[in-house]
Amino acid sequence: MTPGSPLTQDQRAELRAELESALAKLHRSMAVSEGAVKPVELDQTAVGRLSRMDSLQSQSLAKNLHERERIKLALILEALNRMDRGSYGICAGCGEPIPFGRLAIFPETPTCQGCA
Ligand SMILES: [Zn+2]
Repeated sequence: MTPGSPLTQDQRAELRAELESALAKLHRSMAVSEGAVKPVELDQTAVGRLSRMDSLQSQSLAKNLHERERIKLALILEALNRMDRGSYGICAGCGEPIPFGRLAIFPETPTCQGCA
């Protein structure tokens, strides 16, 4: 593991835009999966691919998906918080800068690869 160098302004701005668009996307998809967890009549266009599955299976899939989305949402919000506090891009485990290459793939990650 080679330690990364601190982020440049441009990289930080790029990652913030990335996080914000991921957040917006997540909000949209959560609105759909939130609906899919509840046993209500659903608009076919909202359920899409899920409507073809057995209803029990799709219920549990929807719950799993929703759970993953909740975790990701929390990570993204935390990352944006760290960005506001100026500690974004610093590994929560070892305190070293997280390489930009890793942040570009996982902008919400709080740790470097070694500490993940
Ligand atoms: Zn680390």
